[in-house]
Amino acid sequence: MREVDVLILGGGLSGLSTAYHLAQPSRQTCLVVEKEARVGGTAGSRQRGGFVFDHGAHLLHLHHPYGKKLVRSLLRGNLVKVQRSAWIYLQDCYARYPFQANTHGLPRSVVVDCLAGAWRAAQRSHPGGDSSFADWSRALFGEGVCRHFMFPYNRKLWGVAPERLTSRWTGRFVPRPALDEVLCGALLDQKKGFGYNSFFYYPKKGGSQALADALAARLAAGCILVDSPVISVDLDARVAQIQGLGAVRYRKLVNTLPLPEFIDLSGPWPAQVRAARRRLRHASVWCLNLGVGRPDASGKHWIYFPEKKYPFCRAGIYSNFSATSAPTGASAFYIEVSRPGGAAVDLKALGKQVLSGLLRCGLLRPKDRLLVKDWVRIPYGYVIDDFEREPALKVLFGHLGRRGIESIGRYGGWKYSFMEEALLDGKSCAERLAGR
Ligand SMILES: Cc1cc2nc3c(=O)[nH]c(=O)nc-3n(C[C@H](O)[C@H](O)[C@H](O)COP(=O)(O)OP(=O)(O)OC[C@H]3O[C@@H](n4cnc5c(N)ncnc54)[C@H](O)[C@@H]3O)c2cc1C
Repeated sequence: MREVDVLILGGGLSGLSTAYHLAQPSRQTCLVVEKEARVGGTAGSRQRGGFVFDHGAHLLHLHHPYGKKLVRSLLRGNLVKVQRSAWIYLQDCYARYPFQANTHGLPRSVVVDCLAGAWRAAQRSHPGGDSSFADWSRALFGEGVCRHFMFPYNRKLWGVAPERLTSRWTGRFVPRPALDEVLCGALLDQKKGFGYNSFFYYPKKGGSQALADALAARLAAGCILVDSPVISVDLDARVAQIQGLGAVRYRKLVNTLPLPEFIDLSGPWPAQVRAARRRLRHASVWCLNLGVGRPDASGKHWIYFPEKKYPFCRAGIYSNFSATSAPTGASAFYIEVSRPGGAAVDLKALGKQVLSGLLRCGLLRPKDRLLVKDWVRIPYGYVIDDFEREPALKVLFGHLGRRGIESIGRYGGWKYSFMEEALLDGKSCAERLAGR
């Protein structure tokens, strides 16, 4: 039976980063097992017919000095810094993102609704404590912004009512403009960059996969096994069964698989843990990648679609992040559809609805040639931060901690986070494992 000091389940960014940082000063042997044929997980890319498609937009937001240094050293010259061009499409008009700061360009009735609501909200005090996303949004942005954007968009994205979501996840993700900025953004085409993603980094070549590949290239030979799904983990014996490899005995275990999946394939767990696992909710994402035989001249990076008549939440253009994502004279599009976790989807019907929506809003034109059409399923897209999540995680992480198991990353840690955080999660995990 193979024996390792540290067994890492999953070769996404958090798993690879754990192995990378563990390797630095430590002499511990480690093994990363990944079920797919390539590393990178959700932040991976696919090459189809000359196009490079990610799994929906995967832009690097580098806010931590170490995160920035690490990514720069991994990608060397293969990185560009891009000023965001993000929009909202509503009632056949475009407004700049974020909606709550920029209603310029929308129908006058929408602008008036949003301004009146923002004005009234500014006169009231904010709800304290653990308020729902619905109460939090109403108090901060007012009724108009909630009715036209916050509620319909977030209902579409998460698949649950805004009343059921907490407001805990909003911190860095939902910008909070001041009233004078709201007024300015109603009267003028305000180009001020709001929020954590006003600019972003992206690999010049190779899509977001380039980062995972660069990280994997720094690991010792034989440290990563692809095409090797973990099937079960006996926590008492500290033995994992890996398809194609057999039993692996470990001293320490790091999980980056979606937490519910890890609980299901490992054990023994008490009933309390199984009950807590059943309280976790998520949304799946279906991403339609399109290779279009026309260069896109709009320069737009992505567009949010709050209206129900469009089945997708967001659509964007990879080749506007990096021209190398599409062959000359063509464009690479992505269209993201969110569905409740595990829900069955009729892809043929959905594909028709998506294409007709793209034609209606003008992103696709009737004469466009579709060169490639490629669906990507992201079974765990978004972790839902409802009021069940935190009490359930308290139980789950309590038991994982007692077993000495690290569960990290966006899905192992069961949180709303981005790629830089997955890299930093891996670093902190490696430091804990090395006793630093
Ligand atoms: C639609 C969408 C858009 C996003 N956009 C951005 C963005 O613009 N910027 C940004 O910074 N972040 C973005 N993110 C978040 C980003 O994808 C994640 O933060 C990051 O990829 C998480 O990495 P991870 O290693 O924690 O998880 P994952 O990448 O999910 O890694 C887990 C790995 O485990 C593997 N695995 C699963 N089951 C098994 C098994 N049984 N055995 C072995 N291996 C298994 C998976 O194949 C996967 O490789 C986005 C996410 C989504 C869904």
